[in-house]
Amino acid sequence: MIKAKKSLGQNFLIDEKILEKIVNFIDIKNKTILEIGPGTGNLTNYIFKKKPKKIFVIEKDDLLAEKLREKYPNNLQIINDDVLKVNENSLFDEKAIVFGNLPYNISTEILSRWIVNLKDNFWFEALILMFQKEVADRIIANYNNSNYGRLSILANWKLNIIKISDIKPNSFRPKPKVDSSLLFFTPKENFYKIKNPKNLEKITKIFFNNRRKMIKKPYNQIFNGDLRVLEKLKLNLNLRPQNLTYETYYKLTDEYEKLNC
Ligand code: SAM
Repeated sequence: MIKAKKSLGQNFLIDEKILEKIVNFIDIKNKTILEIGPGTGNLTNYIFKKKPKKIFVIEKDDLLAEKLREKYPNNLQIINDDVLKVNENSLFDEKAIVFGNLPYNISTEILSRWIVNLKDNFWFEALILMFQKEVADRIIANYNNSNYGRLSILANWKLNIIKISDIKPNSFRPKPKVDSSLLFFTPKENFYKIKNPKNLEKITKIFFNNRRKMIKKPYNQIFNGDLRVLEKLKLNLNLRPQNLTYETYYKLTDEYEKLNC
């Protein structure tokens, strides 16, 4: 019996209906698959049944990686490493479908890093990822919603996002304290061109530093009191950060880059 490690966010998915639902959401026959954090292989087993071409898994826990090696000696490419250190852009010869019941302590970091590092030709065809519900709500939030913020703006920049379902703690062992949500992401064909995604992160950080205050202060901080961008984008400085659409943040970043890069 494996003792779950809290430090690695180990809450294993045991609900067969949910496991079935995850692998049935998209056709993966003959596809290249990447699974993040396979753990004891619960989801991996279901992925195998769908006859993909190849399965890569990234598992940080040495013991679990070793057990997976024993369980699947020939047909699983096991990368025993920290997903945050792996260069996902150069792993595959074709676009992958990515599954992950993510370790919750680093789930936003994983997603943000993937988006920031994305090259123009996406390395994945789709992502099916489990998050803590509260995080999923922030990812899918749109403007004028209290969950709207930096993560929503970054995630919706390059990705179409659909919520598949919410999942109760009973579906996992050990049971987490919070609900979870399963999200489905696909690349956007057209997205706003930004030279350096770090600038989008910088701008949203300054704007959402104080989400209750009006945008006058962050705007002036970024544009040194120059009101031309304000006029061009027809912005009202009495608005609050959560009242600006995704698109407005992409345009603000573009204008910032034109002036500074
Ligand atoms: N997929 C399994 C399941 O659904 O039963 C396990 C999911 S569990 C929520 C998260 C998994 O991610 C664990 O196996 C954990 O060891 C692994 N993990 C945690 N941090 C990681 C990291 N930085 N890189 C790769 N794997 C990690």
